[in-house]
Amino acid sequence: MMNERGKLYVVATPIGNLGDISYRAVETLRQVDLIAAEDTRHIKTLLQHYGINQKVISLHQHNEERASAELLEKLRAGLSIALVSDAGTPLVSDPGMPLVRMVKEAGIEVSPLPGACALIAALSAAGLPTARFSFEGFAPRASAERKSFFKAKAASPDTWIFYESCHRVLASLRDLSETMLPDRQVVIARELTKLHETIVKTSLAEALVLVESDHNMQKGEFVIIVEGAPKGVHPVEITDEQEKILRILLKECSISTAVALAVQLTGARKKALYPAALVLGSAKSE
Ligand code: SAM
Repeated sequence: MMNERGKLYVVATPIGNLGDISYRAVETLRQVDLIAAEDTRHIKTLLQHYGINQKVISLHQHNEERASAELLEKLRAGLSIALVSDAGTPLVSDPGMPLVRMVKEAGIEVSPLPGACALIAALSAAGLPTARFSFEGFAPRASAERKSFFKAKAASPDTWIFYESCHRVLASLRDLSETMLPDRQVVIARELTKLHETIVKTSLAEALVLVESDHNMQKGEFVIIVEGAPKGVHPVEITDEQEKILRILLKECSISTAVALAVQLTGARKKALYPAALVLGSAKSE
């Protein structure tokens, strides 16, 4: 294939298995004038694997604005450039957005070379509804923020997905367990396309036990997918008194604790209180 001059190619690279890259992407990496990469050493492993000898310059989150402006000048001068990140699709929880925006604003063509993306790979093997889903990037690092974020997602009827690091996967699942009922289905997709690829679909309660008890399940890279909230009862379907108690409890406790206490205090059924708590709890954290 012929690469055009003065054009930016956004090239997806493998998320583990070096075979997961398209022929066109390999040819593009070979033919462009230079490659802009998140980590110049990292991309060299891929380039060596495919026998590509290319000039690579760095574009990472710490030099992004300056490096993007310099790359724009090179494109204006007629060079063709491939943008890659360390793994998967650039711009998806990765650098590149300022460059792509700048280049488009300058009226220069940007062309994607699609390929691996951890969230799509995980979703394709998850067995959860895919008609509508949301991708949330990385979950917040701090537990308090993370819980608010999970609470805000708890009532979402759609499948939702987040990235997590090995350092926080256990803490994240613990926080998730405090904001959702234990029978919510989750998928832990770990080390996709690599030697220790593991994809587990189970209840939130079992997922937590699994990760707590097996240290190997705390290693590697993770995509977590959460089933959408079950279609349920809206708060209007519980009495005003029950809603009032639930609101008070939600100010002080997690959703699951508030529901458990409200069941005892009001005698209402968990089935009715829980969906109401999800809606009230997420409204509170917005
Ligand atoms: N741009 C990448 C993409 O297209 O998926 C994502 C880059 S982001 C900086 C890295 C995160 O993606 C990891 O911390 C992990 O959550 C997820 N990830 C990347 N590779 C993965 C893999 N092989 N298995 C599971 N998750 C992965």
